[in-house]
Amino acid sequence: MEHDGNGWVQCARGHRHWGVHGAAGLLLHAVDDDGVVRVLLQHRAAWSHHGDTWGLPGGARDSHEDVVAAALREAGEEAALDSRALRVRHRFVDDHGGWAYTTVHADTPAPLATVGNGESEALVWVALPAVPGLALHPGFAATWPEVRADPVVVLVDVANVMGSRPDGWWRDRAGAAARLLRSLDALRAVTVVPPGGRPGVVGAVVAVLEGASVAAADPDWAQVRRAPRGGHGDDAIVAAAAELVGAGHGVLAVTADRGLRARLQALTGPRGAPPPQALGPRWLLDLLDQP
Ligand SMILES: [Zn+2]
Repeated sequence: MEHDGNGWVQCARGHRHWGVHGAAGLLLHAVDDDGVVRVLLQHRAAWSHHGDTWGLPGGARDSHEDVVAAALREAGEEAALDSRALRVRHRFVDDHGGWAYTTVHADTPAPLATVGNGESEALVWVALPAVPGLALHPGFAATWPEVRADPVVVLVDVANVMGSRPDGWWRDRAGAAARLLRSLDALRAVTVVPPGGRPGVVGAVVAVLEGASVAAADPDWAQVRRAPRGGHGDDAIVAAAAELVGAGHGVLAVTADRGLRARLQALTGPRGAPPPQALGPRWLLDLLDQP
């Protein structure tokens, strides 16, 4: 039934919550043209429960829908977001016993226009670091440390990734590299949960070319570094990683090269910021194969 989830319920922890079948919210990420990762937050109307606070578009789940459908429907009602423009990635369930809240991670390459309904004072694409400084809805504030995705830069060892897929790349290295570079544009704003790591949002991609592949043209969004002629590609990758880590960026480095991985692991950033996390080509290729 339409809106049959509306109503109050008491959870096993003794709280009073909205949504007799639980509730869901959409944590939607995008990257603006300056490379800033933003999330869409709703400034809740003053009359609403915990009014005048900031939270996610979302609400009660109806009995006939799953949590993703509920989050997308509510985002459509509250922000006029078209679910076809969104890519749904992950879900995080905060189960209180008798009531659960599901945060649905989704992304869209660039911030979308929104139209609020009466439940919102405003809908704002907020830069990630600014979120904790807002007056947050208490439920959202409690789950934020867990569901929060940090901006990450994906650093791609193009030669190594190409070499992992026997698709004839050796016949035309520059052409194969150009195809890979163009496919990397699809990583803009993608939310990822790397194995053993925290959730991240791809705020930038840096792809390093070496040898004959340096002739490949730049794609629209991913950035390209070219190893100097006669130089070693690994040195260019380590230099790019050192620069990124030094500037405080979280880095996911895609390479299966063990020697290179060891050099990357030795890098640390300011105030002990962690070294790049090394991931294999399969992780990247699986990500690129997602719809
Ligand atoms: Zn509760």
